[in-house]
Amino acid sequence: MLKLVSVSTYYGAIQALKGVSIHIQEGEIVTLIGANGAGKTTTLNTISGLLHPKKGQIFFQEREITRYSPERIVKMGISQVPEGRQIFANMSVMDNLLLGSYHRFCRKTKGQVHQDIDGTFELFPILKERIKQKAGTLSGGEQQMLAIGRALMSRPKILLLDEPSMGLAPLVIREIFSRIRALREEGTTILLVEQNAKAALNVADRGYVMETGKIVFQETTEQLRENKEVQRAYLGKGYKEVWE
Ligand code: ATP
Repeated sequence: MLKLVSVSTYYGAIQALKGVSIHIQEGEIVTLIGANGAGKTTTLNTISGLLHPKKGQIFFQEREITRYSPERIVKMGISQVPEGRQIFANMSVMDNLLLGSYHRFCRKTKGQVHQDIDGTFELFPILKERIKQKAGTLSGGEQQMLAIGRALMSRPKILLLDEPSMGLAPLVIREIFSRIRALREEGTTILLVEQNAKAALNVADRGYVMETGKIVFQETTEQLRENKEVQRAYLGKGYKEVWE
């Protein structure tokens, strides 16, 4: 469904991605894990057109999208939930959700948009209770739910999630990740970027490990959990007790 072939992305003279090749099949949750500065966010921003690679190609549903604009990429069905949520703090929950559908909002589609808002409330019932509340006054977990809900309003075929666990308590992370699983069951394909490898490997089907701009392992989550280097660098002792 989505394929990156030897993608290299630079910030000026700094090479952040060094020939990254990954693929995601329809219906999968694939995780990209790695330490601070490994290049995970750069990978997502390159897919969503916020950055353009110097070398390499990106394909979505067999079509090359390497040089497409972010607007065109959203319209094709790729939607990103950015690191740190980036919700509009002074706007209500409802207005944040409506903004997620801006590119398809018109009189004709009003009904569909409201259906999608109901769908978001089914997935995250707490947002319905907070509908008129300013987004900036929501808890961290609620803001993450809102950021995911806003991305879903564009009816994505694939959702790019950047560190959804960031800054959240373990119980809230579990809640968010159970919703991520529910989304996949409804047919959304997901690329999940995480520093929290324990949480990510618990929901994903497959994973890539990234170090300094390169993919160093690509395996099933089961294999990654058993991989000694991954255990040492990303999982730590006793992770099984925490997540199983
Ligand atoms: P984190 O988990 O901390 O967000 P990451 O794996 O997402 O890390 P990136 O944010 O993609 O990593 O950064 C990859 C590399 O690119 C890092 O060395 C970073 O310092 C560099 N980098 C990121 N953004 C910029 C920028 N705007 N200008 C220059 N260098 C940047």
